[in-house]
Amino acid sequence: MAGVVVIFDFDKTIVDCDTDNWVVDGLGATALFEELLPTMPWNSLMDRMMSELHSQGRTMEDIADCLRTAPLHPQIISGIKTAHALGCELRIVSDANHFFIETILRHHGLFECFSEINTNKSFIDEEGKLRIQPYHDFNFASHGCCNPCPPNMCKGVIIKRIQDSMSSEEEKRIIYLGDGKGDYCSSLKLGERDFMMPRKNYPVWELITSSPLLLKAEIHEWSDAEEFEEVLLKLINIALSANKKTPELLSMDRKFPTVSRLPHKTFPQVLQVPH
Ligand SMILES: [Mg+2]
Ligand SMILES: [Zn+2]
Repeated sequence: MAGVVVIFDFDKTIVDCDTDNWVVDGLGATALFEELLPTMPWNSLMDRMMSELHSQGRTMEDIADCLRTAPLHPQIISGIKTAHALGCELRIVSDANHFFIETILRHHGLFECFSEINTNKSFIDEEGKLRIQPYHDFNFASHGCCNPCPPNMCKGVIIKRIQDSMSSEEEKRIIYLGDGKGDYCSSLKLGERDFMMPRKNYPVWELITSSPLLLKAEIHEWSDAEEFEEVLLKLINIALSANKKTPELLSMDRKFPTVSRLPHKTFPQVLQVPH
C-alpha cells in the first residue's frame, strides 16, 4: 500500500457540473424543480423529480444517457488513473447519489479505480423508477453537526469513520478534494499530515480562506482540470516520498513531471525530478 488515501467530492470536483441540475435541466424539468425547491430539502426534491420524470415517460436509460454527457475533463481522468496506478486508495464522498456516480464513472472507465463510494442511496423500484434516499435519515434524527452540512449528509462524520478505520496504519495520509459548502466539515477533520485541495473561488475555498487557521491540514488550491491533476500528483509524490523517508525529495519546487507517461510496470514509488 502506498499509504495515501485520496478522497474526492464528485459534483464540480470530478465532473464539472452539478449532476442533479444536469439531469433536471437535460430532461427538461427545470421549471418544476425551481418551483418545488423552496418547499422541501434538496435530497427529497431529487427523489420527487425522478418520480415526476418517470410519470412523463422518461426511462432509466434516458437518465443514464443524460449523465453520460456530463462534462468530465480528460486531465481529471488521467489524474485519477495515475493516482490509482501509484497505489493510492481512492474514495468518493458525495451528496449526489449512487446511480448517477456509478453511471458516469463506468462511462469513463474510472469505476474500478475507487474502493468506496459514500453517497445517497439509490435503487430502481417495482415501477422502474429511480428512487433516491438520504445517506443520513434526517426524518429519524439529525446528524447533529453544526457546520454547514445538509440535513441528509455530514461529510465530516464519514471522514471521521474513514480515519478511525485507518488508525492502526499510522503512515497513511489523506488528500481531500472538494468545492462545496458540504466539503468544509471534511476539511476540519483532516490532520496536520493531511492535505486539503479546495477548488479556488468555490464555496469551500471561501470558507477555508476566511479563517485558514481553523484547518490543521496543508491547503493547496486548484482551479481547473490541469491544476487538479498537477497539484494532486505533486501532493501524492510528497506523501510517497515522506513515507519512503527520502527527505531530499521533499524540497523540490520544480514542476512535477507527467507521471502518466511513465510505463506502468516499472512505476517507482518515488518519482525522480529531472535535473
Ligand atoms: Mg461538489
Ligand atoms: Zn458536518
